[in-house]
Amino acid sequence: MVIATVNPATGETLKSFGAMGPEEVERRLAAAQVAFGTYRTTGFDQRARLVLRAADLLDGDREDIARTMTLEMGKPVAAARAEAAKCAKALRWYAEHAPALLADEEPDPDDVHDSGADRARVHYRPLGAVLAVMPWNFPLWQVVRFAAPALMAGNVALLKHASNVPQTALYLEDLFRRAGFPDGCFQTLLIGSDGVERVLRDPRVAAATLTGSEPAGRSVAAICGDEIKKTVLELGGSDPFLVLASADVERAARTAVTARVQNNGQSCIAAKRFIVHTDVYDAFAEQFTAGMRELTVGDPLLEGTDVGPLASEQGRADLEELVEDAVRKGATALCGGRRPDGLDRGWFYLPTVLAGITADMRIHREEAFGPVATLYRVRDAGEAVTVANDTPFGLSSNVWTRDPAEVDRCVRDLQAGGVFFNGMTASHPAFPFGGVKRSGYGRELSGHGIREFCNVTTVWHGAEPSAD
Ligand code: NAP
Repeated sequence: MVIATVNPATGETLKSFGAMGPEEVERRLAAAQVAFGTYRTTGFDQRARLVLRAADLLDGDREDIARTMTLEMGKPVAAARAEAAKCAKALRWYAEHAPALLADEEPDPDDVHDSGADRARVHYRPLGAVLAVMPWNFPLWQVVRFAAPALMAGNVALLKHASNVPQTALYLEDLFRRAGFPDGCFQTLLIGSDGVERVLRDPRVAAATLTGSEPAGRSVAAICGDEIKKTVLELGGSDPFLVLASADVERAARTAVTARVQNNGQSCIAAKRFIVHTDVYDAFAEQFTAGMRELTVGDPLLEGTDVGPLASEQGRADLEELVEDAVRKGATALCGGRRPDGLDRGWFYLPTVLAGITADMRIHREEAFGPVATLYRVRDAGEAVTVANDTPFGLSSNVWTRDPAEVDRCVRDLQAGGVFFNGMTASHPAFPFGGVKRSGYGRELSGHGIREFCNVTTVWHGAEPSAD
């Protein structure tokens, strides 16, 4: 895999990088080990000062790093700015909350006594160097939502970023260095995916987190299983968006457009399957399709652009195959279903709504990583939940309803790591993020995320013999 910035809006290679050789990777693994030796002994105050400094620097760099992200992977520049701002917020959130999230826990005194102890506590200690294998779609956010808790917990980080976002990867290393983190605390490894196994098997690497596709997750989990190393996997999603009979259809249709095309349709938590009660189906389909048709597709560096290109030529080819398969088997494109006119140089694809989806179509089971929505008509809430769960994935879900009984039923029955009512799924530092089924395991963000890479340690003191 070539490590290079290739502008998806033009197909032009802007900058290429050689992969780091074995000596350089070795130097960085050694630096991580040395850094962990002292960084793990620092207090929360010191870590928080460094993390807060990184947040301030990132705020100052916002315009430049937003442009870099847009040039590397094609997201509209306004969304890139918002991503940078969100990262600064997450850094500040963990700087503030980590001490409470990782405070020692005092077991119930009765249990302490019952165990024969004089006193006992639970401590959260860091694990060591964590390898983060990250995707290109939110090139800053995916890394920061791992790094902020990992660094506040006292771990050190090694980043293997996607090969098409090397400048963002190098920017992140530079950001943490400028913030004052000691050498070796946050390092970028410019290596291809074929270089990951060697790093995972290195005894100086304690654990790994991967955000990306199922095959990548399977490979990293298998190697770490073999090495008995902790992993967190954040994989694909095909989130359902249920519009039930009592829904505010206008608001649901408006939100559905954003939920589907955010990040040019390349978000794991984008709503991808729109499952609509028959009573409101026609109104929803009409309004949603109109909204998708009105979007401005074009140069992501222009402020007025809603949808930029897909990040790679292969990504667009994969999406086209899914749409062609569905149409061949009887689906109807209510809008889009093809490349836009006059944008021949980049990897653009029109926002698309497909109706008449059946179970034999690939798009029914596979993730559509681009601005393509599928529409389903259902008879009632029960059928909606059945269709929603008929997928290998289980990342998040959206439900539009004003009926409390339907709310309870969806919370109980939807197989997903999140259920968002009357609004679209979004991540926030305070809420756990992650999935079930083929969407992975473990959680990022919140207290759950920061504790994933901790050694949860029981500290038990036997009763002192009495003086007499
Ligand atoms: P990808 O091909 O799996 O790449 C993700 C990262 O894994 C890259 O750094 C890639 O390196 C590396 N990689 C690929 N194959 C590997 C292997 N066999 N062993 C080790 N590392 C490997 O995924 P993508 O196409 O870039 O990203 C899209 C996918 O990520 C979608 O399925 C999306 O839903 C998912 N995603 C999930 C979340 C979540 O939080 N659940 C968030 C964002 C994206 P190279 O670039 O060098 O190949």
